[in-house]
Amino acid sequence: MRRAYIEEQKREHGRKAIAVLPVHYPKEILTAMDVLAVEMWGPPGPPRGAEAGRLQTYVCAVARNALAFMASGKADVVDAVLFPHTCDSIQGLATLLPDFGGWNKPALRYLHPKGEARPSSRAFVEKELVSLATDLESVTGRPLDTERLRWAIALHREIDGLKAQLLAGRPRLPMDDGALYALLRRGEYLWPEEHLVELRAARDQLRADPVQTGVPVAITGYVPEPMSIFATLNGAGAFVAADDYAAIGRRVVPQDGPVEGDPFAVLRDRTFAAPPCPTRASDPRIRARHLESLFGRTGVKGVIVHEPKFCEPELFDVPAVKRSAAARGLPLLLLEGELELELSAQTVTRIEAFVEMVSTGRAA
Ligand code: SF4
Repeated sequence: MRRAYIEEQKREHGRKAIAVLPVHYPKEILTAMDVLAVEMWGPPGPPRGAEAGRLQTYVCAVARNALAFMASGKADVVDAVLFPHTCDSIQGLATLLPDFGGWNKPALRYLHPKGEARPSSRAFVEKELVSLATDLESVTGRPLDTERLRWAIALHREIDGLKAQLLAGRPRLPMDDGALYALLRRGEYLWPEEHLVELRAARDQLRADPVQTGVPVAITGYVPEPMSIFATLNGAGAFVAADDYAAIGRRVVPQDGPVEGDPFAVLRDRTFAAPPCPTRASDPRIRARHLESLFGRTGVKGVIVHEPKFCEPELFDVPAVKRSAAARGLPLLLLEGELELELSAQTVTRIEAFVEMVSTGRAA
């Protein structure tokens, strides 16, 4: 938790701060209401409190660590917590935290629709968006201003557009993967206007021609932890040319949706315009086609699947990822982790061997 930054945002700007569990949520509404979203992907490392023991050991580290962190008072700087309906574990936390963790601040929920767009799911998400805005009003003490919501939608659209340019132009960006991902992940807690400035500066560094000389690989999974995975990849002679992490690329919404009209309708449409993601129960066949297209246009030579242990939504989709890699004749490396602070020596060796195999074309 970025306590000093949150305290500064509250002190200097009078903002409220809300801890947000992964993955998808309408950040535009929070921004419009002057609420700082601080995402909690764990945090990584060993659980920081005994309350992790309230969950079975076969529950993922993201849920266990989040419960331990919040129940031990380490998130007390925020004014509320938001639980998107990502999976049963996160939904369970919404009950466990107040019941067993002593959490006595608002615990908000956001149920995003599962599956593809259809009349019922479109109507459902619109009601959820309005409901979340109403819940947030009780935290901020102020009603949502429609014009401000339009402004926030435009702001996040620009942020997504810049992220898309950086990810699509990866070979032309003179930056190592660690620096790029650190930049992209700063959006998990920075006030969006500050993040926008950083993203614009990075976009301005894009060159006309490729500068990356390593082997291009694709990476898909949940969240890039530990971040040292990128130093290992770069050190082995590869770079990430295609990203499909839930925390990164799967949250970059394409820019072709409408922007005019009722802002809640715009947000509803943006929900369904997002790339396919198993945490939203996207059809695996649609996801496989999406990945195949991504692998094809980025010219990657191999695919790394980097998942948290015991993550049902992600692991259910691994066969679809395997099919899309196989359809392109790409070798695949499957890694599982538990939010360790560093990669194990065994994992480092597996990555190095995979990159060597891919770069020499021995897998073809
Ligand atoms: S089960 Fe998967 S989606 Fe759910 S909290 Fe754990 S890592 Fe996230």
